[in-house]
Amino acid sequence: MPVQRVVLNSRPGNNGVPVPAHFRLEETTLAPDLEDGEVLVRTLCLSVDPYMRCRMNEDTGVGYVTPWQLSECVDGGGVGVVESSRCSACSEGDVVTSFNWPWQTKAVMKGSALQKVDPQVVDGHLSYFLGAVGITGLTALLGVREKGNVTKGANQTMVVSGAAGACGSVAGQIGRLDGCVRAVGICGSEEKCRALVDDCGFSAAINYRKEDIPVKLQELCPDGIDVYFDNVGGGISDTVIAQMNNNSHVILCGQISQYNKDVPYPPPLSEEIQETLRRNNITRERFTVLNYMNKADAALCELSQLVKSGHINVLETVVEGIEKMGDAFCSMMKGGNIGKQIIKISE
Ligand code: NDP
Repeated sequence: MPVQRVVLNSRPGNNGVPVPAHFRLEETTLAPDLEDGEVLVRTLCLSVDPYMRCRMNEDTGVGYVTPWQLSECVDGGGVGVVESSRCSACSEGDVVTSFNWPWQTKAVMKGSALQKVDPQVVDGHLSYFLGAVGITGLTALLGVREKGNVTKGANQTMVVSGAAGACGSVAGQIGRLDGCVRAVGICGSEEKCRALVDDCGFSAAINYRKEDIPVKLQELCPDGIDVYFDNVGGGISDTVIAQMNNNSHVILCGQISQYNKDVPYPPPLSEEIQETLRRNNITRERFTVLNYMNKADAALCELSQLVKSGHINVLETVVEGIEKMGDAFCSMMKGGNIGKQIIKISE
């Protein structure tokens, strides 16, 4: 059976900016017969995520993800439907997901590597399993709960960087639901600012490309900053940390502004910022969602309810076609997405 797949064509290098030419579309064929335990899946949608940048390097620098190999099929989060099965746990028509879905239109996978999901959990919006009711929603919810110290009635202000992305847009909404009186987003365009305020209930948003962040933060956070959900690191985060209250909390979720640089994760802070953290007793603990998977089932159930009831509004940017995978990844890394970047592969 002929199928299309995306392989890694070349590496950007540890200090390079990824471009679509680092990926290559190929035709390949699947074996006609399944072995015991295997299933044939048709890919419905795929995810592109910032952590994939380190998979483009020869050494990812982190223990929990492996590098993609040159000329081999790239993989990541995906959702698909079972077309035929020789695995007792999967039947034709089941909707399944995996963190290691090949960027391929159809694939033969081990049934044991797939999780069956119920489309009703997302009211049929299957791409939500890759976003708000999947890993980025979990990251937002558990990041806020585990590291944010949000307390109802405490008059707290939350700031979110990378706020109009998959994790950030949900994190601000969770912050508000959990009791923050203000959620201020920092993001890269006017359109994103509008989406945060009009669609996601953020109190205000700052376009870091156009506006003076310290001045706007002072204006929009008159009582200072109590919780900072940090997706980006670098200069934006230094500016936010400089305005944080005593005994406040940084949720160290990600540092995307540094991912095209050959620096360790998390990138080291300047002496000045470290001193600010110490002086003001600001906690800044690294958060890794994969360390909290024992809480995932309950959290996904809560996210599903919040999305269905309209308490969380889901933002997505969807492009179609497996040939767009490389474009979509590179675009997301530069801010081309509002909400979760999804690539629709088939109906
Ligand atoms: P997003 O949907 O937020 O997409 C990435 C966004 O980052 C872009 O849209 C862009 O928005 C912003 N960005 C890119 N470069 C820069 C820059 N130099 N400065 C400021 N903003 C930039 O991705 P995710 O929601 O999937 O991921 C967000 C963060 O969360 C990442 O750092 C990721 O690594 C991290 N993460 C952490 C997890 C964990 O377990 N700790 C799990 C999942 C994600 P803009 O237009 O605003 O620039």
